[in-house]
Amino acid sequence: MRALVFEDSLRFDPRRAEPALELGDALVRVRQAGICSTDLQITRGYMGFRGVLGHEFVGLVEASSNPSLVGKRVVGEINCVCGRCDMCLSGLSPHCRNRSVLGILNHDGAFADYVRLPSHNLHPIPDSIDDDAAVFVEPLAAAFQVLKQVQIESRTWVTVLGDGRLGLLVAQVLRNTGCPVRVIGKHPEKLALCEKWQIRSRLLADIAPRHDQDIVVDCTGSASGIELAMQLVRPRGTVILKSTVADAQPLHLSPLVVDELTIIGSRCGPFRTAITALADRSVDVISLISRRMKIEQGVEAFSVAKRHDVLKVILQIE
Ligand SMILES: [Zn+2]
Ligand SMILES: [Zn+2]
Repeated sequence: MRALVFEDSLRFDPRRAEPALELGDALVRVRQAGICSTDLQITRGYMGFRGVLGHEFVGLVEASSNPSLVGKRVVGEINCVCGRCDMCLSGLSPHCRNRSVLGILNHDGAFADYVRLPSHNLHPIPDSIDDDAAVFVEPLAAAFQVLKQVQIESRTWVTVLGDGRLGLLVAQVLRNTGCPVRVIGKHPEKLALCEKWQIRSRLLADIAPRHDQDIVVDCTGSASGIELAMQLVRPRGTVILKSTVADAQPLHLSPLVVDELTIIGSRCGPFRTAITALADRSVDVISLISRRMKIEQGVEAFSVAKRHDVLKVILQIE
């Protein structure tokens, strides 16, 4: 099968072996997949992953341990878990001690004709959500995770740092709670989307850090985002970190102590909530699509996805 593989470098492999199914697995024929910042970070060494990249996809089930899924159009949760460890047994299966993660940790991903996942990871997609929108279920679920981790009320002042793919999803999810939310970014053309969605936004160069936000969500994708977040949040406020970055950086963490801040790491989120939001059109994902490219052009698609004027690059596989 065709696949986009990262080993020492990223390359298109026209003859990768198809994934071998294990007990409980499903085989999904991938239709489209999205390139995410985590994929870009992996090509810079994040997680030390080697194999087929890709974890945001929509596809058709060709075989499954659950026959009712065969023929269904699905998206898939990325954590493949053991169901037996202390984390799994206490309801924290995304933190399974023995997990593999699609396209990120010990599990070949979805930039390929076929992807393998446990059948229970799959979620059928209603007809009202087209393939373009379905590719966003995974990152939108990650955006919704913020609402599971902190209480946001109508008077909670929230700043989203970063105007990239994830920041713009998080901003819309927060806006829908009715709280005052603003996005701080570096790119006027991306912040223009906020205007379209009636979300306040400011250019980074224009803001003075006032230590006045209740919650700051760092979606910068950069290791230094946390330092700026600590300058924006009020004493006893909360900083939520959504960025996964390859390079380590020495951090100046004393503001964390002095201002008695709470720092919350935030990763994968609820798929069902994301599917519902896409079905009722309460979040606009289609405006985030910058380019569509074929899987054969995958290496070039990665360089396009790195550009600052580009949001989501969709890989067309089928
Ligand atoms: Zn992702
Ligand atoms: Zn487990």
